[in-house]
Amino acid sequence: MPLSENPSAAFGTLAGDHAGIALGRAIVARLDELAGITDEPGVLTRLYLGPAHRRAVDLVSSWMTEAGMQVSLDGLGSLIGRYEGTTPKAPALVIGSHIDTVRNAGRFDGNLGVVTALEVVRSLHRRGHRYPLAIEVVAFGDEEGVRFASTLGGSRAMAGRFDAATLDERDSAGVSRREALASFGCDVATIPRSARSPADTLGYVEVHIEQGPVLEASGLAIGVVTAINGASRGTVALTGKASHAGTTPMDLRSDALAAAAEIILMVERRAREQPGLVATVGHIETPGGAVNTVPGKVRLTLDLRSPFDAQREAALGAITRDIRAIARARGIGCDIAMSYEAPAAPCDAGLSARLAASAGRCGVPYTSLPSGAGHDAMAFRGVLPFAMLFVRCRDGLSHHPDEFAAADDIDVAARVLADFLDHLAT
Ligand SMILES: [Zn+2]
Repeated sequence: MPLSENPSAAFGTLAGDHAGIALGRAIVARLDELAGITDEPGVLTRLYLGPAHRRAVDLVSSWMTEAGMQVSLDGLGSLIGRYEGTTPKAPALVIGSHIDTVRNAGRFDGNLGVVTALEVVRSLHRRGHRYPLAIEVVAFGDEEGVRFASTLGGSRAMAGRFDAATLDERDSAGVSRREALASFGCDVATIPRSARSPADTLGYVEVHIEQGPVLEASGLAIGVVTAINGASRGTVALTGKASHAGTTPMDLRSDALAAAAEIILMVERRAREQPGLVATVGHIETPGGAVNTVPGKVRLTLDLRSPFDAQREAALGAITRDIRAIARARGIGCDIAMSYEAPAAPCDAGLSARLAASAGRCGVPYTSLPSGAGHDAMAFRGVLPFAMLFVRCRDGLSHHPDEFAAADDIDVAARVLADFLDHLAT
């Protein structure tokens, strides 16, 4: 019997509400509608505080109102829908993600988490059900970092750590964040009021597509995130001696590119030795390189990520030592400059265990995995407990128009989130 013909669907119970993949289909329909809101006709591009972001805020705001939520827009353009608890001013659980996109984006990144939370609240509202706690659905607008240099302004403000200096950042057209916020109708003087504390907010939960291939490779619809990986990034400049490729014997060369090749393979080997660690040389340049020249200069990038800071720091130390040793053995100069360090943001063990227990009650197999990409959730590190639920996406593809998550998998995530709320509140 197809699930959609399940007789329990006739009852107005939680089971009936969630029979078939009704929630998944409703979420996909809303994602399709949202995907039509773009700054660039024909593709999905919705930049922070742009005209499409404005229209998306208006649409999601109308959905929140229909779902029984009180809607507000904060000083950084984060849209907040509050579904009150049985007592007014009860502490809230915040569930959210972002509705800004990269250029030429897919429909699911960010938007999925907002719409999934919204649909789960809508099903509560339909049944007239409230919890002792309030639920706030948040649509952040500044996650992708396409328009301005810094990112996560909305979630950082909610964590009480917004950097006011970023108000003066300018986009490529010379418009400052401060000016863009004013034309969006946001009052920057109210930004400090967005800050949450454990006294008013129980925690933050985010549903997001995985943006990687692990769940698909494991044949699983969902995963509970253990941590958002910390990252180290930098560049390595290698200086050998440019010389004639025809006249310079092999034993008299200082080939910077051959040294780089050895370094790239060493970085790969070091990362493979450590489960959970990923390390990448993503870009390499040979300034002045030519087919008949022994390369004298090379610049290459380094990117290391891990859910464990100690693991990442140890690996970076080992890689740095190996780079110097490879360069020394080849008579090559090397300069290593690290430009970016972000600590790992571990998910809250208690909230994550509750998500896992909900998956178990829903009869859904899952795995635990770290997030290799950054998310709004990491802004709450050390301020509020947070947890994330990943949804399988096809080919691990994201930031691309072919990004895809199946309605069945989305439905699983929505049912797990609904069960999580049911049990959090009791
Ligand atoms: Zn995202």
